[in-house]
Amino acid sequence: MNLKSYFFLIIFLGMNGVEDSVATDIDNFSNCTGISVYVDSKDTENKALACDGAQMALAFFQSHKIEIKRPIHIKLHSAGINNYPAHIGLYSSKKNQIDLLTLEHAKSLCVSLRPFGMPMNESLYLSFVAHEVAHAITDQNLKNRPSSLILHEYLAYVTQFATMDLQPRTEILQRYNLEPFQGLENMSSTYYKLNPCAFGVKVFLHYQSLPNQSHFIQGLLSGLIKPESHELE
Ligand SMILES: [Zn+2]
Repeated sequence: MNLKSYFFLIIFLGMNGVEDSVATDIDNFSNCTGISVYVDSKDTENKALACDGAQMALAFFQSHKIEIKRPIHIKLHSAGINNYPAHIGLYSSKKNQIDLLTLEHAKSLCVSLRPFGMPMNESLYLSFVAHEVAHAITDQNLKNRPSSLILHEYLAYVTQFATMDLQPRTEILQRYNLEPFQGLENMSSTYYKLNPCAFGVKVFLHYQSLPNQSHFIQGLLSGLIKPESHELE
């Protein structure tokens, strides 16, 4: 398993984003039904998949009483992302945009780089869409800036696993067979960079162990609960 390669699969770029509080207008902006997300793609099937993944992420945040505050722009790439040839997706707060491979291109990329040791398929792809959209929703709801890499990746991986189909999720959790992080103090950016997939598994297990998950997630966004590491990506 080439762990270092996984680092390049999904990333978050920059935390000093634009200001909050822009009112969203779903009808005027969105081309996804019922959610303020615009998908830049000529292909209907790929667009529908991106919309579905975004819906999954939003439903997760809404279950914790957190909303999209401004439109999210997703640009789909059928031939790789410029300057990031080994990435499935990335979110840039500076551009306020998610760049994302199409499912077909993600499949071909992941023949050699199997994220979580799994073959890329529609189900796993949707979880990666949800991961990137979670970065965007997190960015919109942060009360304090700059924020930390750990906070962002915690919420992105928790969203990815919480919304993932049960079968691949169970398979991944069994394959990794890891203990949950005991607390934020154990979540280091070094661990994340060495093995982001294992980091994702351990933060999800931590999330599952929480007695009040909404309280924790809202605390991260408000700044009342802070990771020890403030390293920025
Ligand atoms: Zn991420």
